[in-house]
Amino acid sequence: MGTKITLKNGVLSVPDDPIIPFIEGDGTGVDIWPASQLVFDAAAAKRGKSIEWQEVLAGEKAFNETGDWLPEATVQSFRDHLIGIKGPLTTPIGGGIRSLNVALRQIMDLYVCLRPVRWFTGVPSPVKHPEKVDMVIFRENTEDIYAGLELEEGTPEAKKLIEMLKDGFGWEIKPDSGIGIKPVSESGSKRLVRAALEYAVKRNRKSVTLVHKGNIMKYTEGAFRNWGYELVRDEFSDVAVGWDDCNGDPGDKILVKDAIADITLQQVLTRPDEFDVIATLNLNGDYLSDALAAQVGGIGIAPGGNINYVTGHGIFEATHGTAPKYAGQDKVNPGSVILSGVMMFEHLGWQDVADDIVRALEATIADKIVTYDFARLMDGAKEVKTSQFAKAIAERL
Ligand code: NAP
Repeated sequence: MGTKITLKNGVLSVPDDPIIPFIEGDGTGVDIWPASQLVFDAAAAKRGKSIEWQEVLAGEKAFNETGDWLPEATVQSFRDHLIGIKGPLTTPIGGGIRSLNVALRQIMDLYVCLRPVRWFTGVPSPVKHPEKVDMVIFRENTEDIYAGLELEEGTPEAKKLIEMLKDGFGWEIKPDSGIGIKPVSESGSKRLVRAALEYAVKRNRKSVTLVHKGNIMKYTEGAFRNWGYELVRDEFSDVAVGWDDCNGDPGDKILVKDAIADITLQQVLTRPDEFDVIATLNLNGDYLSDALAAQVGGIGIAPGGNINYVTGHGIFEATHGTAPKYAGQDKVNPGSVILSGVMMFEHLGWQDVADDIVRALEATIADKIVTYDFARLMDGAKEVKTSQFAKAIAERL
């Protein structure tokens, strides 16, 4: 039957048999989800726990069965059960929804996109020292250029806005322009940085870097940086200190520093050990998390979570797409959903279950049992199917 997860005084109350809604996902979702569920169930059982999985529909499966890409019942189930997990979803082309993933984040106000990036022993990597990569990205999920405030070139709306900007501000914009608006609010920035700092405190991390492009976009990206430092002074002065307030020497406090986005993309590659927790706006976070994922094994094992720490809602997800050319072939790497599950279990306070899965995953890769994506980068690897990879992990739990 299962029991609902609830939120009590801002803290999740998690039973030993939680009900967790899941979206199987389109394309390779049919391969990845059952494989991941096998690992989750085996790991939970080992620790005397069980999960009541409740399938909810979204994407193609939802559209075929209900005529709706994102049925209200799905959103309601995530609202009711607080925590959920999903496979990849097709972005409907020419449909009313820009992206189902972005829609879910916005409807549920999941303002943090959490992407831990670390190397697991044995995973093939294009860099010499992948073990130095251990970063956690907090990407703002609801604002910035991703807010969906765009007007197409040549439309009456775009023309009207261009005229208004000329009349009101004297701004000259070419008449054949498309326009996008980049809103960045103080409240949105501060709740993101607050979540990053609370995470850093809880997990004993050493620093939080505010990544921005404030040298150019002063009142959006630059303001994000300033609000971040302001928050440290106002709310975290007992545990954290900004670079300028300590000359770079934080003592035993968490150091909060900032870095320009373009140089950050170089330095995460050349000096990865200087980065720990990163807090950044939506677009920077998107680029940064995919670039970093490449250093530690690529998209096949990059996990993510979308979280609202105030309401307690969280949806954990594979960060790759549906890889339609491989759909139904029992071929692709289920690592991204499996590690998203690890993040979910950590979030639920099931650290033992999460640690067991990571150990078993590393043991499987150490035995050179891997899916095609790793096999093509490793010498002497044994290439197995999605389901066989999951079984091998479950056997090593
Ligand atoms: P994609 O599905 O991420 O696939 C791109 C490539 O990444 C694949 O061809 C494959 O590389 C590799 N890959 C993806 N999943 C993998 C896995 N589990 N294991 C190993 N390798 C994996 O990107 P796309 O083809 O651009 O997008 C397809 C659809 O997914 C689109 O409809 C897009 O909108 C959607 N999408 C959804 C999400 C989401 O739900 N979060 C995210 C991004 C895109 P190789 O060819 O080298 O084998």
